[in-house]
Amino acid sequence: MVLKDNAYGHGISLMAALCHEYGIKKAVVRNQTEALKVRDFFDYILVLADIPDEPITNVVYALNSIDMIDKFPKNTRVEIKVDSGMHRNGVSIYELDSAFFLCQQRGLHVEGVFTHHRSADELSSEWFTQEENFKKLKEYALELAKKYQIARLNFHSQNSAALFRAGECLHDMVRVGIAAYGCLYEDKNLYKDRGVEQLQPVLCLFASKIATRTLKAGERIGYGGIYEAEKDMVVGTYDVGYADGLFRKASNNYKTPEGYSILGRISMDNLSLDTDKEDVCIFNNANSYAASCDTIGYEVLVGMRAYIKRNVI
Ligand SMILES: *Cc1c(COP(=O)(O)O)cnc(C)c1O
Repeated sequence: MVLKDNAYGHGISLMAALCHEYGIKKAVVRNQTEALKVRDFFDYILVLADIPDEPITNVVYALNSIDMIDKFPKNTRVEIKVDSGMHRNGVSIYELDSAFFLCQQRGLHVEGVFTHHRSADELSSEWFTQEENFKKLKEYALELAKKYQIARLNFHSQNSAALFRAGECLHDMVRVGIAAYGCLYEDKNLYKDRGVEQLQPVLCLFASKIATRTLKAGERIGYGGIYEAEKDMVVGTYDVGYADGLFRKASNNYKTPEGYSILGRISMDNLSLDTDKEDVCIFNNANSYAASCDTIGYEVLVGMRAYIKRNVI
């Protein structure tokens, strides 16, 4: 399970404990700080991009480029990230032999080879081409493992979209993030008959009321006064704003799942709604909320500040 960036905003410690409870033994995190937070809950943790002063025993570090090799302390466990077509990071097939060689010289333990997909969530053949490239890289890596006397290598390539495109785990493990949080974008053509529609978003954001006011027709709300009451109305002010990770873009332009409208501009710590209910669900599906702000569910989720209180229901 991918727990990077505070478990996609869900709260890394809470999610790690849940993973443990449900028997998930492997995790992917962003850096050493996150690895330290979850080290007791997993057998294996892959750090995507960090160089430790002191490696942790159950943690394996991604090697994103050849230049990083001599920055790792001796005896660090590493997995080599290979570039199968995304061209963001990872070593190329031409560098792979050198990567194994230099790791051996440096005294690093190479334990796996993995890649990442750039377009598995788009209707094109790109993910398939990358998968073909990875197969070649995998065969070559197995030859190199013999050459450098490495007994076993862990191979993996699939994020959520690639897992659901393939319908099965193609290598030794998968790295599932967004699907586990129930927010894999549900495109009927992409993931036909894979049961994606059964995935439910697990994160809801609730706001509590700070104040109630009665507006007279013609009165305007908040910064810039961009919303004007057409008739006398009751308005609630709630305790979330863009400081908490909401987007100002949703100002005057979004309806909550219960059908309440955001009135006027979202401010730093507040927003106004056409209700005076005590607690209101602001969103229960990050993808639908994201659509009203021209972004994606991922950005909404990771934007939820770590200090917001999380309750597991
Ligand atoms: C974020 C990430 C994933 C998870 O991707 P999802 O689309 O959320 O499943 C997998 N692998 C790597 C390398 C990542 O950075």
